[in-house]
Amino acid sequence: MSHHTILVVEDEASFVEALQIGLTREGFHVEVATDGVQALERFSDVQPDLVLLDVMLPRLSGIDVCRQIRQTSSVPIIMVTAKSSEIDTVVGLEVGADDYVTKPYRVRELVARIRALLRRSTMDATGEVERSSDAAIRVGEVALDPDEHRVTVAEVEVSLPLKEFEVLHLLLANAGRVLTRETLIERVWGHDYVGDTKTLDVHIKRLRSKIEVDPAVPERIVTIRGLGYKYERPAARPDR
Ligand code: CA
Repeated sequence: MSHHTILVVEDEASFVEALQIGLTREGFHVEVATDGVQALERFSDVQPDLVLLDVMLPRLSGIDVCRQIRQTSSVPIIMVTAKSSEIDTVVGLEVGADDYVTKPYRVRELVARIRALLRRSTMDATGEVERSSDAAIRVGEVALDPDEHRVTVAEVEVSLPLKEFEVLHLLLANAGRVLTRETLIERVWGHDYVGDTKTLDVHIKRLRSKIEVDPAVPERIVTIRGLGYKYERPAARPDR
């Protein structure tokens, strides 16, 4: 098994120590940064497979670090929050984290989430999973190219982090069909996903903000109450 590199960004020494021991024991290679500026430097030096990112950091907050990483990379990012009131922010609009844990957390729980995220991104890279074909898809004005990890809306490119891209890919590949919440979570996060299902909803919300004409009145990704989501095929219109 290959040794994945985890960049741990954490300023509290006791957490750093526990994570170094716990993650190394699980077979990960651990790199550490103890403030936000150092995190960005280490990120470009180390090119980690996953970033574990504390929200409250000296010099530059975890949220700013996440935003900056997202400008150039779709690396899986797990945010670490100290209070649940921060969750909406970190997995919310425009920050771009893939998952979060709330302090205090168990290393065992964290490792399960790390493995789930790494497995999805590794499978994507090696093409082991055929969730939806690798062919480029276009539904109405929204186009997605898996090979180039590229999405355009009305020919304008939009930047999507890994999980949002995967959710959209699955929805587009199944346009016109209802996908249940369970299917979406299992296919995108893995069947052993241990987080709560709110993560799916915030990913949908972020996607809507990027691909809907009016995110408040979604016409592309529609909610099917009590069931899940559906990507609506556009009605045949002469101007499309
Ligand atoms: Ca901290």
